[in-house]
Formats: sequence, structure tokens, C-alpha cells
Amino acid sequence: MLVVFFLFGLSFGSFIYVAYVRFSPDISLSNYLFSITFNRSICPCCHHRLRYWQLIPLFSWLYLKGRCYFCQCKIPYDYLLLELLCGCAFILIGLDKQGNDLMLSHKIAPYFQVILFLLLACWFLLLAMIDFRYCLLVDFLTQPLMWLGVILAYFNCAFISLEMALIGIFFGYLLLKIPALIFYLVTKKIGLGGGDIKLLAALGAWIPYSRLPLLLIIASLLGMIYYLVLRYLLHYSSLKMIPFGPFLLIAGYGLIYFL
Ligand SMILES: [Zn+2]
Repeated sequence: MLVVFFLFGLSFGSFIYVAYVRFSPDISLSNYLFSITFNRSICPCCHHRLRYWQLIPLFSWLYLKGRCYFCQCKIPYDYLLLELLCGCAFILIGLDKQGNDLMLSHKIAPYFQVILFLLLACWFLLLAMIDFRYCLLVDFLTQPLMWLGVILAYFNCAFISLEMALIGIFFGYLLLKIPALIFYLVTKKIGLGGGDIKLLAALGAWIPYSRLPLLLIIASLLGMIYYLVLRYLLHYSSLKMIPFGPFLLIAGYGLIYFL
């Protein structure tokens, strides 16, 4: 089981990296889906189309010693790190959520629960990486998260009831929309992106609404720590904008996981 989870993690890590590098802020959903589904991988230096054996997660990187087979251009370490991170995360989440005691705590089938947690982990990771890079949470990546939560709640396959999910969406939206609106009225500046507001609404479909304020507090604390580390430990002086999405996602995943 350990090896299976690790191999799945490596493959999903590889896919997340592809989905991350092929995203651009102005891309449409159809182009994005086409690009991550059908476009073959190429070397960013020599534009050679990569062969199938060069696309095997982890092993290709190790076999090629981190260099392109054709032009010897270096393949970035972050590619390998992301695959390994996903491999380890899949083992931890997969084995943990298979535990007997946890199986009994939810109504839903254990294997379905494992798949759901792994899927959410991948989804959240991709959203967080994109938000870190572009300070952008596009609707076509956040809205389906909300709809999936609602659909699963409707079929009684989620962690909360449909009623709770719908209230959560509404409450999550208002919880950030109202402060954002007040901030804008007072300062005439946009303090919080619309994507963050929609993301919290989407997370509301997964978490009991009574815990959404806690989610916001944890996310804000994480964001503050991140800011302080950048500003005072790493001496970044020109910090204009910090993405809030990654912290909402970390706090949200933690709350869904330990629900
Ligand atoms: Zn190359």
C-alpha cells in the first residue's frame, strides 16, 4: 500500500507541476484544459518533444541526472521536490485516512474518503502554487471546488449536510466580503482580492460554517508570520502584495482533515 500511494503521489505531483507551469493569468478554461490534457511535454531550453521514458516521475530525473537528454539543459530541482513532496503526502494521508478508527467516524466509505482527501490535497496545492506566483485565484479553479462540495453533500457523501454546505457558502462569502467592502469604502483601495472571497465561499461548502471564523483566524496568523519572516528575517523591503489564498487553503485543508 505504501509503494502504491507513493507512486500515485509521484504521478500526481508530476501532473500538478505541468498544470502549474502551463497556467497563465489570461488563459481560458478550454485552452487550459486542452494544454494540460493533450499538449506533449517539451524541453523549455531546446523545445525538443520529450519521449515517454523521459516523462516517468522521479526515475527519469534521476536517470538523466537532472539534465535534458537532448541539450543537457538543467531540469529544475523544484520539479523533483514537488514529486517527492506529493509522494510523501500521499503516503501520510492515504495510510492515515485508512485507519480503522477514522473509518467509523464518518458515514462515507473509507476508500472514497481517502480518494477525496488526496484529490483535495492536489487541488489545494495547485491553487496555492498559482496564487503564490500570480496573486490570482481564477474562477474556473475555485468554483468547481464549491460545486463539488455541494454535489457531494446532496448525495450524502460529504462531511457535512447539504443545508450546512449552503449556509457555509453564504457565510464564507459574507465573512470576507463585508470587511473587504468596509476597507474599500474607508481607504478607496482594494485590500483583498475577489478570488480570496470566492475561495472562502467555496471552502464553506466543505466545513461547518461555525468553524469558518476559526479558519480565517488561522489563515490570517499564517499570513502574518509569512509577512514577518519575509520582512524582518529575509529583509524583503518592497513587499506590496501578499497572496492570501495559500493560507486560506492550508487552514481550510487542516480543518477539513481534522474535522
Ligand atoms: Zn533540452
